[in-house]
Amino acid sequence: MNNRIAQLVRNNIRTLAPYSTARDEFKGSLGVFLDANESPYPNPFNRYPDPHQKILKEKISALKGMPVEKIFLGNGSDEAIDLMYRIFCTPGKDNAIVIAPSYGMYSVCAEINDVEVRSVELNPDWSLPEEKLLEAADDNSKLMFICSPNNPTANAFPKEQILRIVQKFNGIVVVDEAYADFSTKGSLLPELASNDNMVVLQTMSKARGLAGLRLGMAFADSCIIRFMSMVKYPYNINQATINEALKVLDKNIGDEISEILSERERLSAELIKFKFIKEIFPSDANFILIRTDDANSLYDHLIKDGIIVRNRNSVKGCKGCLRITIGLTSENEKLLSSLKMYQI
Ligand SMILES: *Cc1c(COP(=O)(O)O)cnc(C)c1O
Repeated sequence: MNNRIAQLVRNNIRTLAPYSTARDEFKGSLGVFLDANESPYPNPFNRYPDPHQKILKEKISALKGMPVEKIFLGNGSDEAIDLMYRIFCTPGKDNAIVIAPSYGMYSVCAEINDVEVRSVELNPDWSLPEEKLLEAADDNSKLMFICSPNNPTANAFPKEQILRIVQKFNGIVVVDEAYADFSTKGSLLPELASNDNMVVLQTMSKARGLAGLRLGMAFADSCIIRFMSMVKYPYNINQATINEALKVLDKNIGDEISEILSERERLSAELIKFKFIKEIFPSDANFILIRTDDANSLYDHLIKDGIIVRNRNSVKGCKGCLRITIGLTSENEKLLSSLKMYQI
């Protein structure tokens, strides 16, 4: 038990006796399963999945170079985000610090859990307001969420700056690296060993191309991972997801990533030529954030051509902004053709 981490955990969670599944109570090799009230008739899913996802975690451990006891697997990273609140924040008392603009789930989960959100605006150039983030904290600040590369601003923050915040903040810093595969700035995973109050989130939903499977990963000190495993639903990762993930994780996605990156550069260079696009923010992700004169009218124009982008016009700090995911070359071409018609 890591005392510093345990201090931050809600009292009711620290003393929780975890639910023990039927198959937890016996370890060994078995052939006759009469313990879990499953159907005995064979079909691919008549048995409950492994609640510890042992085989899948071993595969991810090899892929990421992280020990199994520092890995949590969730029903998307969204599950890990929600668990952070349920483990560390006492409703009506504790608070979490988020950057703005950023990924919406940090605030949504806070509200659902009745946890106060302290939102700190990024600097106008989208850089991290390091001092302001630390000044926003008080004794009840248990969590801070830093998304890097950040959604929707697309930039990654310098690693040294995030680490300085991790070292000065007295709670848990959750670094969401959903888009790290597209960034040259690298991951903070190697820094976990020397920072026990940091949780790194990654996901199979973006570069890995498995959004439909729902498989998110959290990497952290084994003490944090133990609490996450204790609080999650016992069978949070279903057997179909486990089977499919084991099949596809060997695939090399290097070529797909390179292609997305070269399309990102090509698209950026093309987009800036349009008079109605005022700004294209530098991207470390698989999307581009642009600022236009009138985001709503451009959004509607694209919809009429069957193209949907993310309208961020009403997000604080993002007036006039659209977020555009990098697609296939043919799809990006359709976007450019549609934009040419808008200009006329
Ligand atoms: C897309 C995204 C995720 C992924 O969530 P999943 O639940 O794993 O699909 C996480 N964080 C950010 C910032 C994202 O944009």
